[in-house]
Parts: sequence; structure tokens; C-alpha cells
Amino acid sequence: MRVLLVEDDPLLGSGVRAGLEQAGVTADWTQDGEEAEAALSAMTYDAVVLDLGLPRMDGLSLLRRLRSRHDPVPVLVLTARGAVSDRVTGLDAGADDYLAKPFDLAELQARLRALLRRSRGIATPVIRCGRIELDPAARAATLDGKPVDLLPREFATLEALLLNTGRVLSKAQIEDRLYGWGDEIESNAIEVYVHHLRRKLYPDLIRTVRGVGYFVPKDPT
Ligand code: CA
Repeated sequence: MRVLLVEDDPLLGSGVRAGLEQAGVTADWTQDGEEAEAALSAMTYDAVVLDLGLPRMDGLSLLRRLRSRHDPVPVLVLTARGAVSDRVTGLDAGADDYLAKPFDLAELQARLRALLRRSRGIATPVIRCGRIELDPAARAATLDGKPVDLLPREFATLEALLLNTGRVLSKAQIEDRLYGWGDEIESNAIEVYVHHLRRKLYPDLIRTVRGVGYFVPKDPT
């Protein structure tokens, strides 16, 4: 999962970013509304965590702009505690959820997972696909009910493919889910993760479309 965090408070921003990364979420962090809008037009994010009071463009204006150009990206708004009008205005402007500051990082992580599920039309927290089960909250995977040890980026690669079964993802699209701004991407990294996943799970799960990318069939054997 790749998230854009828009928060101008340096302490809160760096804390939230670190917490998200710890939970296996790739988080890009910007402290101003205009930069956030530029990032959102350049990259597809799985979700946005949006503070309202921001320099250069406030959070509500940014949210309204996103929705007026029909950008469906799930948005979780950070509001001041007790500010009911902020929550109402935020939801009416197209936010999908909100959290009042100060909040618990575990709750933010859980709400983001729920947003991601809803945006993909997945009703259950555990992703099931053929013989595989993936629990994004526990970062745990099983094959035929037996736990499989996956490294964080192997897990994220598999998660991206399972959230898009039947759709081919290019290497660049998978990289976008795994790496944030300033992360170094080794060439062939995705090939290596796919190779490891095939070995740890089973070879036929992830199919290659030569020159295009990878996919997991909707009903894998
Ligand atoms: Ca602020």
C-alpha cells in the first residue's frame, strides 16, 4: 500500500510516517497543499491522510479539487478533537473517513486498511485467493493453511497482485506500491521478489506476461 501523508506539523508528520512504514505501508510525506496536489497528479496512491490546516493550499480545498476532477482516491482527514464542523465539512467535501488528533497509530493503520478494502470492494479483512490467504493487519501469509515466511517487500508485492487479481501489473506499477520518494530501487528487484514468491508459494500462482508485467489469475489453481 502506498499512501500520501499531507501534514505540516513536523513532529506529527515524521511520527505518522515512521508508524506507517513500520506497518509495511510505503508513505510519501509532504507538508504543503500545493505539493500534495502535484504529487497526486503524478502518482496513483492507495489512500491520502490529509491534515486540514496546511500552508499554500488548505486540506479542504485540495480535497474539493480532487473530487471535482473525479479522483476516487480514498481520503482520511485529520481533524482537531471536538471540531464536529470540521468532520462534517470534510465528509461532505468527499472525505471517506476522519480521525481526531491526537490519535493512536494503530487506529490510523486499521482505518487505512479498511479504506483500502472498501475501495477494492473487499468485505473481509483477510484476502483469500485459491490456496493463499493474506492478512494485511498481521502481515501474515498462509499457503494451504500453513504459515509462509515472507519478507516485507515480498509481502507487499503479493498484496498488490492479490488486490488486483486478473489484472496485469507492470513492474513500474508494483514498484510504485513498494517504494516511496527517495527510496533506492535496485534494478530487477521486482523479478527477484516474484522469483522468491514462486519458490515460497508455488510456481504457477504468479503469471508473467512478457514485456508487460505480472498477474495472479482470478481463480488460481
Ligand atoms: Ca496543520
